[in-house]
Amino acid sequence: MSKRNFLVNALMKKCPRCQEGDLFIAPFNFSNPVHMPEHCPVCNQKFEPEPGFYYGSMFLSYIFSAFFFLGIIGLCLIVLKLSLNASMAILLLVAALTYFFFLRMSRSIWINLMVKYDPKAKDKKDVQSFGY
Ligand SMILES: [Zn+2]
Repeated sequence: MSKRNFLVNALMKKCPRCQEGDLFIAPFNFSNPVHMPEHCPVCNQKFEPEPGFYYGSMFLSYIFSAFFFLGIIGLCLIVLKLSLNASMAILLLVAALTYFFFLRMSRSIWINLMVKYDPKAKDKKDVQSFGY
């Protein structure tokens, strides 16, 4: 298997080291929306390499959602010529619907930024924190 771009891999929510294991446990659970296994089931990469590892992903989530919501409000106000109240109501609805998407995506992008791809990761079974 050849190396995918880290952004494509992050969008697919796959392990950054082997690009095969899933980052999140499959059935979505509202009580724990970012439920991740401790290690990658394929290459044993730790998915929380250190305590507080995902604090940085909050900044990514903020940046992505802020620009996305700015686009939504601009679309409602300028293109669709809706009132401010109607635009804000639509924005709140969109924000509620996309909350978990941005939460998971920012975590996925964050770990894909920090951990390098290793083509031989499947063969190694040692626990890796950052994949150096
Ligand atoms: Zn893996």
